Amino acid sequence: MSRRVAILGAGPSGCFVAQALLKARPDLRVDILDRLPVPYGLVRYGVAADHQGTKAITRQFARLFERQGARFFGNVTVGRDVTLEALREAYDAVVVATGLSTDRRLGIPGDDLPGVHGAGRITRALYEHPDAEPLPPLGPRPLIVGNGNVAIDLLRLLAKTSEELDGSDLGPGPTAWLAGSGIDEITILGRSPAAAARFDAVMLKELGRLSGVSIAVDDLGTAGTEEGARTLEALSALHGHGAGPRRIRFVFARRPIAVEGDGCVSGLLCIAPDGREERFPATSILTAIGFDGETATAESGAAVRMAPGLYGAGWFARGPRGTIPDNRADAQALAAVILADLDATPASSSIPGDVLACLPGTVTYDGWTRIDAAETAAPPAGRCRAKITGRAAMLSLAAAPDEKETQP
Ligand SMILES: Cc1cc2nc3c(=O)[nH]c(=O)nc-3n(C[C@H](O)[C@H](O)[C@H](O)COP(=O)(O)OP(=O)(O)OC[C@H]3O[C@@H](n4cnc5c(N)ncnc54)[C@H](O)[C@@H]3O)c2cc1C
Repeated sequence: MSRRVAILGAGPSGCFVAQALLKARPDLRVDILDRLPVPYGLVRYGVAADHQGTKAITRQFARLFERQGARFFGNVTVGRDVTLEALREAYDAVVVATGLSTDRRLGIPGDDLPGVHGAGRITRALYEHPDAEPLPPLGPRPLIVGNGNVAIDLLRLLAKTSEELDGSDLGPGPTAWLAGSGIDEITILGRSPAAAARFDAVMLKELGRLSGVSIAVDDLGTAGTEEGARTLEALSALHGHGAGPRRIRFVFARRPIAVEGDGCVSGLLCIAPDGREERFPATSILTAIGFDGETATAESGAAVRMAPGLYGAGWFARGPRGTIPDNRADAQALAAVILADLDATPASSSIPGDVLACLPGTVTYDGWTRIDAAETAAPPAGRCRAKITGRAAMLSLAAAPDEKETQP
């Protein structure tokens, strides 16, 4: 009897682990479940709507289900629909690849004022995650706190003209929200000096192609490393770019100490490199400083093995660091550990029940292809996809035609 692996979370890490397992051992039964009716995690709900090239990784993941025999069970929440214990009994190995989605807070006075929003909250709403809160008003002067690519993604989306969003999969609601934002100036502020910012130089260069902005970069400073020198070069090329109406200002080496405002945000108080206090006026603050949540606690000596037969992968295991390709390397290492553990433990002689297949309301891979086909069949002008946004609509589309006939 083939050995069975359940993977919780159909984001990049879960898919990469499944890929590596099935490549090495095509006879494995690999089931991937997700609490959403649709697969691919942050590729669908985090990667920027105007970065469709990055999202093309889903074509590779599709082969898992179409050719490598993995099964998808969407709309399954562990703890509500099935317990972790039941999964551990039914499968030889269970991999938790559920990511991290809670925005890290600034941890300073005022960080809970109305008008302070985490990047995860905003991107989920922009990309129409079914559990997203509504998009909030940002006012004319949003301030982004963060020195990484998520901060740059947000900045770019907020700064683009409507025409520059052509080819994306941004929905009509978020498109209207951006068009009506009334933004005059966006400040992007980080704690680290410019040379230590974790911006990808390619992402910075992309800002230099925006037509409706004028960009100023304060406090470039100097670099002590080659990587830092590359970042400084990309940032200094941006300084003075454009003469558009929307101003973008980069500020570095400022330590936020308080969000100011009476009832809602009016600015950010920081400590400057010379020790002075400095105020940055803002009508909203978007924090792109990472994510929190429950992460894997490793069994001693095994970075990803949490208990016998129970493993952690991706952001859940490593914390909120790393790009999609980084998860591939980790997944390959984890797959090797799982395969070695499977080889070292005898297969159970009893045939476990198919706990997932008998759950009502799950979405299969075929169900997802029906959602996908509906989203891509007739997108509006300038868009490559019209996402189905509500769970009920997704579930209805995903249901097989014969299931629909039997529905009341
Ligand atoms: C805003 C943003 C933009 C990004 N842009 C890029 C980019 O352009 N390029 C790039 O390379 N990287 C990008 N990244 C990083 C990349 O998205 C991550 O490296 C990657 O998604 C991590 O994969 P994961 O599978 O660990 O987590 P996730 O992608 O978060 O997947 C986790 C999956 O688990 C599911 N899940 C959660 N809880 C449960 C549960 N209890 N039961 C079942 N399922 C559950 C979720 O629905 C989700 O599908 C971005 C990250 C963010 C936050």
